[in-house]
Amino acid sequence: MTGTQPPGTLFVVAAPSGAGKTTLTRMLLQNDPGIRLSISYTTRAPRPGEENGTAYHFVDVPTFLAMVERKEFLEWAEVHGNYYGTSRVWIEQEIAAGRDVLLEIDWQGAQQVRRFFPACVGIFILPPSTAELARRLAGRGTDSEEVIARRLAAARDEMRHVGEFDYVIINNELQSAFADLQAVVRAARLSLERQRARHGALFTNLLES
Ligand code: ADP
Ligand code: 5GP
Repeated sequence: MTGTQPPGTLFVVAAPSGAGKTTLTRMLLQNDPGIRLSISYTTRAPRPGEENGTAYHFVDVPTFLAMVERKEFLEWAEVHGNYYGTSRVWIEQEIAAGRDVLLEIDWQGAQQVRRFFPACVGIFILPPSTAELARRLAGRGTDSEEVIARRLAAARDEMRHVGEFDYVIINNELQSAFADLQAVVRAARLSLERQRARHGALFTNLLES
């Protein structure tokens, strides 16, 4: 409670694959124009239909490595031979300007983000049961049992990190889980630090006159 936090809030959302993270965060972004999604940088080629600046910021390897050198990433990784990174600079600019930012990331990325932004709000989405998670992972029913078993094991590894997050949303009934997500966002915006950062003049006026 130092009063030195930026006026915007950084929301870090993680979940095991299949829990409904994409569904819930898309609903939030559509319904809340005050939140912007962080778009990662990557050196991989765009897939058909992927626009620069929407799916990713597509850059070449020298550009990416120069950004690494300038410490412009909050975190970055090499995945399947391509580089991916989250822009620290963009997030800092947004929250300094009072806008809220949503970051979709795994637990490892979340740990790195917390080091830079300890005031970030961590939200973890859980499925209502293992059976339901398996059903959602099975999707169209075209995956083999072996593939689904592998995804479930990966999901369990991710869920072991739930204790590192501030809020937990159990995505059973979708509308109810969405209402929970909106409630977390609203409560975070009303915390003392954010209110003081946004309404500094009012605090001064009310407390010092
Ligand atoms: P993630 O991004 O976490 O991998 P998705 O949002 O893609 O998960 O959801 C996985 C699947 O589960 C999708 O088919 C989605 O429509 C479905 N789903 C998401 N939330 C619910 C829910 N509350 N009830 C039933 N199905 C859901
Ligand atoms: P794809 O190329 O299929 O879009 O993504 C490949 C992998 O890169 C996915 O596992 C995705 O989670 C990961 N990824 C995407 N953006 C980032 C990022 O900014 N940082 C890290 N560490 N991984 C990312």
